[in-house]
Amino acid sequence: MDRHPISRRAASVEASGIRRMFELVASMPDPINLSIGQAHFDVPGPVKQAAVAAIESDFSRYTVTQGLPELNRGVLAKLAAREGPAADLSGARSIITAGVSGGLMLGFMALLDPGDEVLVPDPYFTMYPVLARMCSAVPVTYDLYPGRPLDEAALEAAITPRTRLILVNSPSNPTGRTLGDGELRAVGSVAEAHGLVVMSDEIYDEFVYDGPHVSAFGRVPADRLMVLGGWSKTYGMPGWRLGWAVGPDEIVDAMRRMQQFSFVCAPSLVQKAGLAALDVDMSAEIADYRRKRDLLVAGLAGHYEIVPPGGSFYMFPRLPGGLDGDGFLKQALERSLLLVPGKTFSAHDSHFRLSFAADDRVLERGIAALIDIAESVAGG
Ligand code: PMP
Repeated sequence: MDRHPISRRAASVEASGIRRMFELVASMPDPINLSIGQAHFDVPGPVKQAAVAAIESDFSRYTVTQGLPELNRGVLAKLAAREGPAADLSGARSIITAGVSGGLMLGFMALLDPGDEVLVPDPYFTMYPVLARMCSAVPVTYDLYPGRPLDEAALEAAITPRTRLILVNSPSNPTGRTLGDGELRAVGSVAEAHGLVVMSDEIYDEFVYDGPHVSAFGRVPADRLMVLGGWSKTYGMPGWRLGWAVGPDEIVDAMRRMQQFSFVCAPSLVQKAGLAALDVDMSAEIADYRRKRDLLVAGLAGHYEIVPPGGSFYMFPRLPGGLDGDGFLKQALERSLLLVPGKTFSAHDSHFRLSFAADDRVLERGIAALIDIAESVAGG
C-alpha cells in the first residue's frame, strides 16, 4: 500500500511537460531556450516603484476578497474605454485574482459540478483540462489547429446535456492563433442556444500584431460571458500573481465566495503595483515582439509549415519530415535547443510550440538549429 493516501484527484494530475523543460534548462550550459511561457522583458519601473512604496508603507494586511476597489474600477474603466459601448460592460462586475490561473480555478469551482463537461480548444493551454479534472469535471475538446476555421457545427456537435462551459483563448497559448469577430460571435450563439457560459481567457490581449485585440466582450452575450485577463504576460510579472475576471454579478459573486475560502485575496502589495501598471504604455515592447515574430516566421519559411501567429508569443509549426514529438525533441536537445512538443497541448502529436519571448541572439541561434534539424531530416 502507498504510504500516503493521495487523492484520486491529485493522482490524476501528471507533472507538466513544461516543468520538465525548466529542469532541463537548469542542467544545460548555454541552451537555446524557445520553450519560455513568459515575456523576456523586465517589470516597468513605475510598477516596481509602486510595489516598493507599498512595502515601505506597510500595506501588508489582507485586502477585501474581491480586491482593492480602485483596482477593480481601474480594470473596468480600461476595458470599457478599449471596447466601447457595444461591449455592454455596464452591468459587469470584476474580481481581482491570484493570476489568471487563480481566476480559472475560481471560475471552474463556481460553475462546474462533478461530471459536468467543459469544451476546451485543442491545442489548449495545459491547465484547462487538468483544472477541469481537479473539479471532477470532464474536458471535451474542439478543434482549433492553426489554419482551420472554428467550425460552429463541430462545436455544437460536441455539446451534450452535461456541457456547462465553453473555453476560448485568443490570442492562444500554444498556437498564437487569434479568433476573429465571426468566430467569437459563433461561439456566443452556440452558448446562447444551449444555455452555456463562455469563459474567455484573454491573458495575451496586448500581444496582438495584425490589428486591435478582438475580445469576446460585445460578441458573446454579456449574461453568458466571463472574461479573464491579467498582468503576468503584459508587464513581465508572472511571479507576482495578479489577474482579473469580469462577468455577470452572480458568477463573480460565486467566485468571490470561492476566493474567500481559498486564496483569500490577491497579494496586497501586488494589487498596488497592478494599479500603477494600468497607466504604463507597453506598445514599444509589443512592437518588438511583432518584429520577433516576423524574424522567426521569415527565418523558418521554406523549412517548416507555419501559420503566422496573430498574437501571443508562440507559434505552432508542424513537425518536420515524419518525426514524432519525442524524435524531434531528441534532435532539438542534441543541438541544445529547448521547445515543447505539441502533444503537451493536444491529443495529437503533429506540431510543436516555439516561443519567441527571447533575445534576438537566441532566436537567431534557434532558427539555425531548427533549419539544421529540418535539413538533416529531409536529407536522411
Ligand atoms: N492562460 C494562459 C493561456 C496562459 O498561457 C497562462 C500562463 N502561461 C495563464 C493563463 C496563467 O497566467 P497567470 O500567470 O496569470 O496565472
